[in-house]
Amino acid sequence: MTMHVCVLGGGVVGVTTAYFLAREGYQVTVVEKHTQAAAEASFANGGQLSYSYVAPLAGPSVLSHLPGWLLSRTAPLRFRPSLDVDQWKWCCEFLRHCTSARSRQTTVELLRLGAYSRTVMQELMTNESLDFAFNKSGKLVVYRNAEDFAGARKQMDFQAGFGVEQSALDADACIAVEPALESIHQKLVGGIYTASEEAGDCHLFTRELSRLATEKYGVRFLFGTQLHGLRQESGKVVAAQTSEGDIIADDYIVALGNGSPNLLHPLGINLTMYPLKGYSLTVPVNLGNVAPKVSVTDLHHKIVYARLGDQLRIAGMVDMTPAGSKEDSARIRLLQSQAQATMPNAGDFSATQIWTGSRPTTPDSKPLLGATRFPNLWLNTGQGSLGFTLAAASAKLVTDAVRGRTTRIDISPYQLAGRNEARTYEFAI
Ligand SMILES: Cc1cc2nc3c(=O)[nH]c(=O)nc-3n(C[C@H](O)[C@H](O)[C@H](O)COP(=O)(O)OP(=O)(O)OC[C@H]3O[C@@H](n4cnc5c(N)ncnc54)[C@H](O)[C@@H]3O)c2cc1C
Repeated sequence: MTMHVCVLGGGVVGVTTAYFLAREGYQVTVVEKHTQAAAEASFANGGQLSYSYVAPLAGPSVLSHLPGWLLSRTAPLRFRPSLDVDQWKWCCEFLRHCTSARSRQTTVELLRLGAYSRTVMQELMTNESLDFAFNKSGKLVVYRNAEDFAGARKQMDFQAGFGVEQSALDADACIAVEPALESIHQKLVGGIYTASEEAGDCHLFTRELSRLATEKYGVRFLFGTQLHGLRQESGKVVAAQTSEGDIIADDYIVALGNGSPNLLHPLGINLTMYPLKGYSLTVPVNLGNVAPKVSVTDLHHKIVYARLGDQLRIAGMVDMTPAGSKEDSARIRLLQSQAQATMPNAGDFSATQIWTGSRPTTPDSKPLLGATRFPNLWLNTGQGSLGFTLAAASAKLVTDAVRGRTTRIDISPYQLAGRNEARTYEFAI
């Protein structure tokens, strides 16, 4: 008999999971409250498939940056303390992960997941025809400060030990790789270039994949369906309770992004995750504009630029401020002015589309994948600022775990249980 899996959430993570499960022969139902896929965090993100830039937010330099995050209105990261217990719990956990040993271990674990995601994504694109402004034009991270660049070179040397191929460039070489950076030429001290990095439109990818999953593999999408909870009996989940009635399945996958902790709390599963807000601008690129072809990260402002067909996607800021906060419009104006100062002729800024979204982020920046204490309830959430990048690997690992097959890479560093164990890695990825 065909097994039925209910995927909860129709963002990039849920849709990619539904696709892989259906390809394995499962009957799949996706529950999504919006009327279409990718309407929340996956809507207008930075577009980077950034497999080699995965270092976690938590690291040893955090403490020296904290005063700026708390006090400066123009810092790329902004933290406004509130009375929210979840925020404090998240922050305490986050600080625990800021040691160099932890941060290095997490970097290796994310590099491994990133490398696997690249492989799975390539296989997916070979098998299916998907049009999502995909390009493989490499990524250039540029630095305006010698100390930051020195740190980046050290990180590059560390990552080289794990098979990541990157090169350090001086300012002139950065301009040769990406001429659109000419107006900040004199401000640059150098850059790290990774030829193998990719970019694409996450929203288009998710919509296209949901269409294909329906037409080719029979996935059923229940759009406009609000999930209220999960009913358990005798240690198993027996139904997903929704606005359209109960959905009965053999297995349930939680891919609800920022909605995951609240859904699982009544079952006694406590996920430490927090929505870290960010903003994006989508700017039309017309004839005569000089827009970047290579994906660019301007580290000083922590702004990413990705060329998505005839548009330029600009994304940045990491804000721990309340949803719909009064500060949002000031942050968007700041992003606009910094982007325009960096690449004044990159596109028609007067026709910019603005977006605010929140990254579903764990304190250590690793996603939560795989088993829970309920044998038929699985996690695929918490991809944070790397949800598009890690969606393919996360979906494949969870599909293999549901199937009871040995996963291609060890899933245990990303599982809820045992994720904080110290591990040493000496292998190439
Ligand atoms: C500014 C910004 C820039 C980013 N840039 C990049 C980038 O360049 N590269 C990258 O890899 N990642 C990037 N990210 C991160 C990436 O966008 C996210 O990690 C990813 O979209 C998360 O996908 P998801 O499917 O887990 O969540 P979502 O896309 O939010 O999907 C979860 C879905 O669950 C649904 N849902 C939740 N609760 C319920 C409920 N109770 N009932 C029914 N449905 C429900 C929601 O409606 C939603 O559609 C960025 C994020 C932001 C905010």
